[in-house]
Amino acid sequence: MTGHDVVVVGAGAAGLMAALEAARGGARVLVIEKTPRAGTKILASGGTHCNLTTTLEPRAAARLFGKQGERFLRGPFQALSPKALREAFSDWGVPTRSAPLEKIFPVSGRARDVRDALLQVTLAAGAEVRYDTPLLELVQQEGSGSSWTLRCPGDEDLEASAVILAAGGKSYPRTGTTGDGYGWLQSLGLPLVEPRPSLVPLRSNAHWVQELAGVSLPDCELFLQQAKGEPAARRRRPLLFTHRGLSGPGPMDLSGRISALGDHAQVDLRADLLPDIDRESLRDELLALAAQPGRPGATRLLKGKVPRRLLGPICAACDIGPDMAAAALTRAQRHGLIEAIKRLPLPVEGTLGYDQAEVTAGGLALDALDSRTMQVHGHEGLFVCGELLDLDGPIGGLNFQAAFSTGYMAGRAAARSFTGK
Ligand SMILES: Cc1cc2nc3c(=O)[nH]c(=O)nc-3n(C[C@H](O)[C@H](O)[C@H](O)COP(=O)(O)OP(=O)(O)OC[C@H]3O[C@@H](n4cnc5c(N)ncnc54)[C@H](O)[C@@H]3O)c2cc1C
Repeated sequence: MTGHDVVVVGAGAAGLMAALEAARGGARVLVIEKTPRAGTKILASGGTHCNLTTTLEPRAAARLFGKQGERFLRGPFQALSPKALREAFSDWGVPTRSAPLEKIFPVSGRARDVRDALLQVTLAAGAEVRYDTPLLELVQQEGSGSSWTLRCPGDEDLEASAVILAAGGKSYPRTGTTGDGYGWLQSLGLPLVEPRPSLVPLRSNAHWVQELAGVSLPDCELFLQQAKGEPAARRRRPLLFTHRGLSGPGPMDLSGRISALGDHAQVDLRADLLPDIDRESLRDELLALAAQPGRPGATRLLKGKVPRRLLGPICAACDIGPDMAAAALTRAQRHGLIEAIKRLPLPVEGTLGYDQAEVTAGGLALDALDSRTMQVHGHEGLFVCGELLDLDGPIGGLNFQAAFSTGYMAGRAAARSFTGK
Protein backbone atom coordinates (compact mmCIF):
# COMPACT_ATOMS: atom_id res chain seq x y z
CA MET A 1 0.00 0.00 0.00
CA THR A 2 1.20 3.53 -0.68
CA GLY A 3 -0.71 5.37 2.01
CA HIS A 4 -2.18 7.58 -0.69
CA ASP A 5 -5.81 7.99 -1.70
CA VAL A 6 -5.15 9.21 -5.22
CA VAL A 7 -2.30 8.32 -7.54
CA VAL A 8 -1.85 10.69 -10.48
CA VAL A 9 0.10 9.29 -13.42
CA GLY A 10 2.12 11.98 -15.23
CA ALA A 11 3.43 15.31 -13.94
CA GLY A 12 2.50 17.46 -16.92
CA ALA A 13 0.02 20.34 -17.02
CA ALA A 14 -3.03 18.11 -16.52
CA GLY A 15 -1.47 15.84 -13.90
CA LEU A 16 -0.09 18.65 -11.76
CA MET A 17 -3.36 20.55 -11.85
CA ALA A 18 -5.26 17.37 -10.96
CA ALA A 19 -2.86 16.66 -8.08
CA LEU A 20 -3.17 20.21 -6.80
CA GLU A 21 -6.97 20.08 -6.75
CA ALA A 22 -7.11 16.60 -5.24
CA ALA A 23 -4.70 17.64 -2.48
CA ARG A 24 -6.59 20.85 -1.86
CA GLY A 25 -9.73 18.77 -1.62
CA GLY A 26 -8.25 16.83 1.27
CA ALA A 27 -6.95 13.69 -0.47
CA ARG A 28 -3.50 12.20 0.11
CA VAL A 29 -1.97 12.46 -3.35
CA LEU A 30 1.01 10.80 -5.01
CA VAL A 31 2.13 11.80 -8.52
CA ILE A 32 4.28 9.29 -10.37
CA GLU A 33 6.31 10.66 -13.25
CA LYS A 34 8.27 8.59 -15.72
CA THR A 35 11.02 11.13 -16.36
CA PRO A 36 13.35 12.91 -13.92
CA ARG A 37 11.37 16.18 -14.11
CA ALA A 38 7.89 17.67 -14.08
CA GLY A 39 6.25 19.66 -16.86
CA THR A 40 8.78 19.04 -19.61
CA LYS A 41 6.31 20.16 -22.27
CA ILE A 42 5.48 23.30 -20.32
CA LEU A 43 9.20 24.12 -20.42
CA ALA A 44 9.37 23.52 -24.19
CA SER A 45 6.12 25.27 -25.00
CA GLY A 46 5.62 28.44 -26.99
CA GLY A 47 9.31 28.52 -27.91
CA THR A 48 10.08 28.35 -24.11
CA HIS A 49 7.75 31.33 -23.50
CA CYS A 50 4.67 29.13 -22.77
CA ASN A 51 1.42 30.25 -24.32
CA LEU A 52 -0.51 28.93 -21.33
CA THR A 53 -4.01 29.99 -22.25
CA THR A 54 -6.18 32.24 -24.41
CA THR A 55 -7.98 35.57 -24.21
CA LEU A 56 -11.15 33.86 -25.47
CA GLU A 57 -14.24 33.39 -23.35
CA PRO A 58 -14.94 29.78 -22.28
CA ARG A 59 -17.62 29.14 -24.90
CA ALA A 60 -15.60 30.57 -27.78
CA ALA A 61 -12.55 28.59 -26.65
CA ALA A 62 -14.52 25.33 -26.42
CA ARG A 63 -15.95 25.87 -29.91
CA LEU A 64 -12.45 25.52 -31.36
CA PHE A 65 -12.36 21.82 -30.38
CA GLY A 66 -14.98 20.67 -32.90
CA LYS A 67 -18.56 19.67 -32.15
CA GLN A 68 -17.86 16.83 -29.72
CA GLY A 69 -14.97 18.61 -28.05
CA GLU A 70 -17.09 21.72 -27.60
CA ARG A 71 -19.85 19.81 -25.88
CA PHE A 72 -17.35 18.04 -23.64
CA LEU A 73 -15.29 21.10 -22.69
CA ARG A 74 -18.09 23.58 -22.09
CA GLY A 75 -18.38 22.61 -18.41
CA PRO A 76 -14.64 22.27 -17.65
CA PHE A 77 -13.92 25.62 -19.37
CA GLN A 78 -16.60 27.28 -17.23
CA ALA A 79 -15.32 25.62 -14.06
CA LEU A 80 -11.70 26.69 -14.65
CA SER A 81 -11.94 29.43 -17.25
CA PRO A 82 -8.99 31.00 -19.07
CA LYS A 83 -9.55 34.10 -16.92
CA ALA A 84 -9.56 32.09 -13.69
CA LEU A 85 -6.40 30.31 -14.80
CA ARG A 86 -4.66 33.64 -15.37
CA GLU A 87 -5.79 34.84 -11.96
CA ALA A 88 -4.50 31.66 -10.34
CA PHE A 89 -1.08 32.03 -11.94
CA SER A 90 -1.00 35.67 -10.97
CA ASP A 91 -1.72 34.68 -7.34
CA TRP A 92 1.16 32.21 -7.60
CA GLY A 93 3.53 34.99 -8.65
CA VAL A 94 3.27 34.58 -12.42
CA PRO A 95 1.34 37.51 -13.90
CA THR A 96 0.38 37.12 -17.55
CA ARG A 97 -0.05 39.33 -20.60
CA SER A 98 -1.99 39.01 -23.84
CA ALA A 99 -0.37 38.75 -27.28
CA PRO A 100 -1.67 38.66 -30.89
CA LEU A 101 -3.84 35.71 -32.00
CA GLU A 102 -5.61 35.59 -28.61
CA LYS A 103 -2.54 34.22 -26.85
CA ILE A 104 -1.57 34.59 -23.19
CA PHE A 105 2.02 34.40 -21.95
CA PRO A 106 3.70 34.95 -18.59
CA VAL A 107 4.89 38.57 -18.35
CA SER A 108 8.39 37.24 -17.67
CA GLY A 109 8.30 35.34 -20.97
CA ARG A 110 9.70 32.30 -19.16
CA ALA A 111 7.95 28.94 -19.42
CA ARG A 112 10.02 27.84 -16.44
CA ASP A 113 8.13 30.29 -14.20
CA VAL A 114 4.83 28.63 -15.17
CA ARG A 115 6.16 25.14 -14.49
CA ASP A 116 7.88 26.11 -11.23
CA ALA A 117 4.83 27.92 -9.85
CA LEU A 118 2.48 25.06 -10.62
CA LEU A 119 4.84 22.49 -9.15
CA GLN A 120 5.44 24.54 -6.02
CA VAL A 121 1.75 25.08 -5.23
CA THR A 122 1.08 21.41 -5.85
CA LEU A 123 3.80 20.36 -3.40
CA ALA A 124 2.71 23.02 -0.92
CA ALA A 125 -0.83 21.62 -1.04
CA GLY A 126 0.59 18.33 0.21
CA ALA A 127 0.98 16.24 -2.94
CA GLU A 128 4.10 14.10 -3.27
CA VAL A 129 5.86 13.72 -6.63
CA ARG A 130 7.95 10.63 -7.35
CA TYR A 131 10.23 10.92 -10.40
CA ASP A 132 11.73 8.20 -12.59
CA THR A 133 8.68 6.11 -11.77
CA PRO A 134 6.91 4.94 -14.93
CA LEU A 135 3.60 3.19 -14.67
CA LEU A 136 3.96 -0.13 -16.50
CA GLU A 137 0.56 -1.69 -15.97
CA LEU A 138 -2.76 -0.71 -14.45
CA VAL A 139 -5.00 -3.40 -12.97
CA GLN A 140 -8.48 -3.02 -11.56
CA GLN A 141 -8.88 -5.37 -8.59
CA GLU A 142 -11.62 -7.89 -9.18
CA GLY A 143 -14.76 -7.45 -7.13
CA SER A 144 -13.42 -4.72 -4.89
CA GLY A 145 -15.23 -1.78 -6.48
CA SER A 146 -12.74 0.99 -6.91
CA SER A 147 -9.36 -0.41 -6.01
CA TRP A 148 -6.48 -0.12 -8.42
CA THR A 149 -3.04 -1.67 -8.59
CA LEU A 150 -0.30 0.21 -10.38
CA ARG A 151 2.71 -1.83 -11.50
CA CYS A 152 5.94 0.17 -11.61
CA PRO A 153 9.55 -1.07 -11.87
CA GLY A 154 10.84 -2.55 -8.63
CA ASP A 155 9.14 -4.88 -6.25
CA GLU A 156 6.41 -2.87 -4.68
CA ASP A 157 3.11 -2.32 -6.45
CA LEU A 158 1.20 0.84 -5.71
CA GLU A 159 -2.43 0.64 -4.69
CA ALA A 160 -4.99 3.38 -4.70
CA SER A 161 -8.73 3.83 -4.58
CA ALA A 162 -8.52 6.52 -7.25
CA VAL A 163 -6.19 6.80 -10.20
CA ILE A 164 -5.94 9.85 -12.44
CA LEU A 165 -4.32 9.08 -15.78
CA ALA A 166 -2.58 12.19 -17.17
CA ALA A 167 0.21 10.60 -19.19
CA GLY A 168 -0.32 12.72 -22.32
CA GLY A 169 -0.25 11.52 -25.93
CA LYS A 170 2.60 10.42 -28.17
CA SER A 171 3.74 13.65 -29.78
CA TYR A 172 7.29 14.91 -29.17
CA PRO A 173 8.25 11.46 -27.81
CA ARG A 174 11.70 12.71 -26.78
CA THR A 175 10.02 14.57 -23.89
CA GLY A 176 8.79 11.28 -22.38
CA THR A 177 5.34 11.01 -23.89
CA THR A 178 5.41 7.81 -25.88
CA GLY A 179 1.74 6.88 -25.84
CA ASP A 180 1.93 4.59 -22.78
CA GLY A 181 -1.60 5.56 -21.74
CA TYR A 182 -3.26 4.06 -24.80
CA GLY A 183 -2.13 0.55 -23.78
CA TRP A 184 -3.63 0.89 -20.29
CA LEU A 185 -6.92 2.11 -21.71
CA GLN A 186 -7.01 -0.71 -24.24
CA SER A 187 -6.25 -3.32 -21.60
CA LEU A 188 -9.37 -2.12 -19.76
CA GLY A 189 -11.42 -2.48 -22.95
CA LEU A 190 -12.01 1.27 -23.29
CA PRO A 191 -12.76 2.87 -26.67
CA LEU A 192 -9.89 4.72 -28.32
CA VAL A 193 -10.09 7.12 -31.23
CA GLU A 194 -7.02 6.31 -33.35
CA PRO A 195 -4.23 8.70 -32.27
CA ARG A 196 -2.65 10.87 -34.94
CA PRO A 197 -0.22 13.79 -35.01
CA SER A 198 -1.66 17.30 -34.85
CA LEU A 199 -0.33 20.86 -34.67
CA VAL A 200 2.55 19.73 -36.84
CA PRO A 201 4.20 21.33 -39.90
CA LEU A 202 3.15 20.00 -43.31
CA ARG A 203 5.48 18.18 -45.69
CA SER A 204 5.74 19.30 -49.30
CA ASN A 205 8.13 17.93 -51.90
CA ALA A 206 7.27 20.67 -54.40
CA HIS A 207 10.39 22.63 -55.36
CA TRP A 208 8.59 25.92 -55.57
CA VAL A 209 7.31 25.54 -52.01
CA GLN A 210 10.73 24.64 -50.64
CA GLU A 211 12.39 27.43 -52.60
CA LEU A 212 10.15 29.94 -50.83
CA ALA A 213 11.61 28.89 -47.43
CA GLY A 214 11.54 31.92 -45.15
CA VAL A 215 8.63 33.66 -46.91
CA SER A 216 5.67 34.26 -44.63
CA LEU A 217 2.09 35.35 -45.18
CA PRO A 218 0.86 37.05 -42.02
CA ASP A 219 -2.77 36.97 -43.10
CA CYS A 220 -3.99 34.24 -45.38
CA GLU A 221 -6.92 31.84 -45.22
CA LEU A 222 -6.41 28.15 -45.84
CA PHE A 223 -9.06 25.80 -47.20
CA LEU A 224 -8.74 22.05 -46.80
CA GLN A 225 -11.11 19.86 -48.77
CA GLN A 226 -12.16 17.03 -46.48
CA ALA A 227 -14.13 13.92 -47.43
CA LYS A 228 -16.35 14.23 -50.51
CA GLY A 229 -19.47 16.23 -49.83
CA GLU A 230 -18.13 17.80 -46.62
CA PRO A 231 -17.48 21.54 -46.54
CA ALA A 232 -13.83 22.57 -46.61
CA ALA A 233 -12.16 23.14 -43.26
CA ARG A 234 -10.85 26.70 -43.16
CA ARG A 235 -8.47 28.61 -40.96
CA ARG A 236 -7.34 32.23 -41.24
CA ARG A 237 -3.94 32.34 -39.63
CA PRO A 238 -0.32 33.12 -40.66
CA LEU A 239 1.57 30.73 -42.95
CA LEU A 240 5.31 30.18 -43.29
CA PHE A 241 7.08 28.43 -46.17
CA THR A 242 9.95 26.22 -44.98
CA HIS A 243 12.57 24.05 -46.65
CA ARG A 244 10.40 21.03 -45.79
CA GLY A 245 6.98 22.45 -46.60
CA LEU A 246 4.56 24.66 -44.70
CA SER A 247 4.51 25.77 -41.11
CA GLY A 248 2.97 28.51 -38.97
CA PRO A 249 -0.39 28.53 -37.21
CA GLY A 250 -2.57 28.13 -40.34
CA PRO A 251 -1.00 24.93 -41.73
CA MET A 252 -0.43 23.52 -38.24
CA ASP A 253 -4.02 24.12 -37.19
CA LEU A 254 -5.21 22.03 -40.16
CA SER A 255 -2.56 19.34 -39.75
CA GLY A 256 -4.67 17.08 -37.52
CA ARG A 257 -7.32 16.87 -40.23
CA ILE A 258 -4.63 16.18 -42.83
CA SER A 259 -3.17 13.31 -40.80
CA ALA A 260 -6.73 11.98 -40.41
CA LEU A 261 -6.95 11.67 -44.21
CA GLY A 262 -4.33 8.88 -44.08
CA ASP A 263 -0.78 8.50 -45.38
CA HIS A 264 -1.49 8.20 -49.09
CA ALA A 265 -4.49 10.49 -49.41
CA GLN A 266 -4.52 13.30 -51.92
CA VAL A 267 -4.50 16.53 -49.94
CA ASP A 268 -6.45 19.39 -51.50
CA LEU A 269 -5.16 22.46 -49.66
CA ARG A 270 -5.60 25.96 -51.04
CA ALA A 271 -4.76 29.45 -49.85
CA ASP A 272 -6.68 32.67 -50.17
CA LEU A 273 -3.76 35.09 -50.29
CA LEU A 274 -5.94 38.19 -49.93
CA PRO A 275 -8.85 37.21 -47.71
CA ASP A 276 -10.03 40.81 -47.26
CA ILE A 277 -10.39 41.44 -51.00
CA ASP A 278 -13.20 39.68 -52.85
CA ARG A 279 -13.06 38.41 -56.43
CA GLU A 280 -15.21 41.28 -57.76
CA SER A 281 -12.83 43.89 -56.39
CA LEU A 282 -9.83 42.06 -57.82
CA ARG A 283 -11.53 41.91 -61.22
CA ASP A 284 -12.28 45.65 -61.08
CA GLU A 285 -8.68 46.40 -60.10
CA LEU A 286 -7.38 44.26 -62.97
CA LEU A 287 -9.64 46.01 -65.47
CA ALA A 288 -8.57 49.41 -64.15
CA LEU A 289 -4.94 48.31 -64.50
CA ALA A 290 -5.56 47.19 -68.08
CA ALA A 291 -6.92 50.64 -68.89
CA GLN A 292 -3.81 52.42 -67.59
CA PRO A 293 -1.25 53.79 -70.04
CA GLY A 294 2.14 52.06 -70.38
CA ARG A 295 0.68 48.52 -70.39
CA PRO A 296 1.44 47.67 -66.72
CA GLY A 297 1.97 43.98 -65.94
CA ALA A 298 -0.94 42.01 -64.52
CA THR A 299 1.05 41.16 -61.38
CA ARG A 300 1.15 44.87 -60.51
CA LEU A 301 -2.23 44.03 -58.96
CA LEU A 302 -0.35 42.24 -56.16
CA LYS A 303 2.32 44.87 -55.55
CA GLY A 304 2.71 45.43 -51.81
CA LYS A 305 0.02 42.83 -51.12
CA VAL A 306 1.91 39.55 -51.39
CA PRO A 307 5.68 38.82 -51.18
CA ARG A 308 7.40 39.28 -54.57
CA ARG A 309 8.84 35.76 -54.44
CA LEU A 310 5.32 34.39 -54.58
CA LEU A 311 4.48 36.07 -57.91
CA GLY A 312 6.18 33.34 -59.97
CA PRO A 313 4.21 30.47 -58.37
CA ILE A 314 0.96 32.45 -58.70
CA CYS A 315 1.55 33.02 -62.42
CA ALA A 316 2.58 29.38 -62.89
CA ALA A 317 -0.64 28.23 -61.19
CA CYS A 318 -2.76 30.09 -63.74
CA ASP A 319 -0.38 29.60 -66.63
CA ILE A 320 0.31 33.21 -67.50
CA GLY A 321 3.73 34.74 -68.09
CA PRO A 322 5.08 36.77 -65.16
CA ASP A 323 5.50 39.83 -67.41
CA MET A 324 2.15 39.62 -69.12
CA ALA A 325 0.42 42.99 -69.44
CA ALA A 326 -2.91 43.35 -67.66
CA ALA A 327 -4.39 44.59 -70.96
CA ALA A 328 -3.30 41.40 -72.74
CA LEU A 329 -5.20 39.03 -70.46
CA THR A 330 -8.11 37.18 -71.95
CA ARG A 331 -11.22 36.90 -69.85
CA ALA A 332 -10.32 33.31 -68.99
CA GLN A 333 -6.80 34.32 -67.96
CA ARG A 334 -8.18 37.11 -65.78
CA HIS A 335 -10.43 34.57 -64.12
CA GLY A 336 -7.49 32.14 -63.73
CA LEU A 337 -5.31 34.79 -62.10
CA ILE A 338 -8.04 35.74 -59.64
CA GLU A 339 -8.60 32.08 -58.76
CA ALA A 340 -4.85 31.60 -58.23
CA ILE A 341 -4.94 34.49 -55.75
CA LYS A 342 -8.11 33.37 -54.01
CA ARG A 343 -7.41 29.61 -54.06
CA LEU A 344 -3.71 28.97 -54.70
CA PRO A 345 -3.19 25.17 -54.61
CA LEU A 346 -0.52 24.25 -52.05
CA PRO A 347 0.96 20.82 -52.80
CA VAL A 348 1.24 18.85 -49.56
CA GLU A 349 2.10 15.19 -49.04
CA GLY A 350 1.30 14.85 -45.34
CA THR A 351 2.76 16.01 -42.05
CA LEU A 352 6.17 15.79 -40.38
CA GLY A 353 4.70 13.25 -37.93
CA TYR A 354 4.81 12.75 -34.16
CA ASP A 355 8.43 13.91 -33.84
CA GLN A 356 7.43 17.46 -34.71
CA ALA A 357 3.81 17.41 -33.54
CA GLU A 358 2.85 19.63 -30.63
CA VAL A 359 -0.17 17.51 -29.76
CA THR A 360 -1.75 14.13 -30.41
CA ALA A 361 -5.29 14.11 -31.76
CA GLY A 362 -7.41 11.07 -30.86
CA GLY A 363 -7.25 9.22 -27.55
CA LEU A 364 -9.88 8.06 -25.08
CA ALA A 365 -13.30 8.54 -26.73
CA LEU A 366 -15.13 11.37 -24.99
CA ASP A 367 -18.34 9.40 -24.54
CA ALA A 368 -16.41 6.96 -22.30
CA LEU A 369 -16.28 9.46 -19.45
CA ASP A 370 -18.29 12.07 -17.59
CA SER A 371 -17.08 15.60 -18.37
CA ARG A 372 -18.21 16.82 -14.93
CA THR A 373 -15.79 14.50 -13.16
CA MET A 374 -13.52 12.96 -15.84
CA GLN A 375 -14.43 9.59 -14.32
CA VAL A 376 -14.60 6.74 -16.81
CA HIS A 377 -18.06 5.16 -17.05
CA GLY A 378 -18.18 1.72 -15.47
CA HIS A 379 -14.73 2.08 -13.85
CA GLU A 380 -15.19 3.64 -10.46
CA GLY A 381 -12.13 5.49 -9.27
CA LEU A 382 -10.57 5.82 -12.73
CA PHE A 383 -10.18 9.39 -14.02
CA VAL A 384 -8.56 10.51 -17.29
CA CYS A 385 -7.54 14.05 -18.23
CA GLY A 386 -5.37 16.09 -20.60
CA GLU A 387 -4.01 15.07 -23.95
CA LEU A 388 -4.75 11.39 -23.37
CA LEU A 389 -8.35 12.30 -24.18
CA ASP A 390 -9.70 12.63 -27.72
CA LEU A 391 -9.30 16.41 -27.58
CA ASP A 392 -7.10 18.68 -29.66
CA GLY A 393 -7.48 22.38 -30.26
CA PRO A 394 -5.71 24.85 -32.52
CA ILE A 395 -2.59 26.82 -31.63
CA GLY A 396 -3.12 29.61 -29.11
CA GLY A 397 -2.93 28.24 -25.56
CA LEU A 398 -6.03 26.12 -26.06
CA ASN A 399 -4.39 22.77 -25.49
CA PHE A 400 -2.90 23.82 -22.17
CA GLN A 401 -6.26 25.27 -21.19
CA ALA A 402 -7.89 21.91 -21.99
CA ALA A 403 -5.22 20.08 -19.97
CA PHE A 404 -5.59 22.44 -16.99
CA SER A 405 -9.40 22.45 -17.03
CA THR A 406 -9.81 18.68 -17.40
CA GLY A 407 -7.10 18.10 -14.76
CA TYR A 408 -8.94 20.48 -12.45
CA MET A 409 -12.21 18.56 -12.86
CA ALA A 410 -10.51 15.20 -12.33
CA GLY A 411 -8.64 16.31 -9.22
CA ARG A 412 -11.70 17.81 -7.58
CA ALA A 413 -13.88 14.81 -8.36
CA ALA A 414 -11.25 12.33 -7.17
CA ALA A 415 -10.96 14.20 -3.85
CA ARG A 416 -14.73 14.38 -3.49
CA SER A 417 -14.96 10.63 -3.85
CA PHE A 418 -13.13 10.39 -0.49
CA THR A 419 -14.30 13.39 1.43
CA GLY A 420 -17.84 13.42 0.06
CA LYS A 421 -17.66 17.25 -0.07
C1 LIG B 1 7.17 21.87 -28.51
C2 LIG B 1 5.77 22.04 -27.97
C3 LIG B 1 5.28 23.31 -27.78
C4 LIG B 1 3.95 23.47 -27.29
N1 LIG B 1 3.51 24.74 -27.07
C5 LIG B 1 2.27 24.91 -26.57
C6 LIG B 1 1.80 26.21 -26.23
O1 LIG B 1 2.55 27.19 -26.28
N2 LIG B 1 0.51 26.33 -25.80
C7 LIG B 1 -0.32 25.23 -25.64
O2 LIG B 1 -1.48 25.39 -25.24
N3 LIG B 1 0.12 23.99 -25.92
C8 LIG B 1 1.39 23.81 -26.35
N4 LIG B 1 1.84 22.54 -26.59
C9 LIG B 1 0.95 21.41 -26.29
C10 LIG B 1 0.96 21.12 -24.78
O3 LIG B 1 2.29 20.93 -24.39
C11 LIG B 1 0.11 19.89 -24.45
O4 LIG B 1 -1.20 20.11 -24.89
C12 LIG B 1 0.11 19.65 -22.94
O5 LIG B 1 1.41 19.49 -22.46
C13 LIG B 1 -0.72 18.42 -22.57
O6 LIG B 1 -0.64 18.27 -21.18
P1 LIG B 1 -0.77 16.85 -20.50
O7 LIG B 1 -0.48 17.08 -19.05
O8 LIG B 1 -2.02 16.20 -20.89
O9 LIG B 1 0.40 15.96 -21.12
P2 LIG B 1 1.98 16.12 -21.02
O10 LIG B 1 2.36 17.53 -20.80
O11 LIG B 1 2.52 15.43 -22.18
O12 LIG B 1 2.37 15.35 -19.68
C14 LIG B 1 2.32 13.96 -19.58
C15 LIG B 1 3.31 13.50 -18.52
O13 LIG B 1 3.14 12.11 -18.29
C16 LIG B 1 4.40 11.51 -18.20
N5 LIG B 1 4.28 10.08 -18.53
C17 LIG B 1 4.13 9.52 -19.75
N6 LIG B 1 4.06 8.18 -19.65
C18 LIG B 1 4.17 7.89 -18.33
C19 LIG B 1 4.20 6.68 -17.57
N7 LIG B 1 4.15 5.47 -18.17
N8 LIG B 1 4.31 6.74 -16.22
C20 LIG B 1 4.42 7.95 -15.58
N9 LIG B 1 4.43 9.13 -16.26
C21 LIG B 1 4.30 9.09 -17.61
C22 LIG B 1 5.25 12.27 -19.18
O14 LIG B 1 6.64 12.12 -18.94
C23 LIG B 1 4.76 13.69 -18.94
O15 LIG B 1 5.48 14.33 -17.92
C24 LIG B 1 3.15 22.34 -27.04
C25 LIG B 1 3.67 21.07 -27.22
C26 LIG B 1 4.97 20.91 -27.68
C27 LIG B 1 5.51 19.51 -27.84
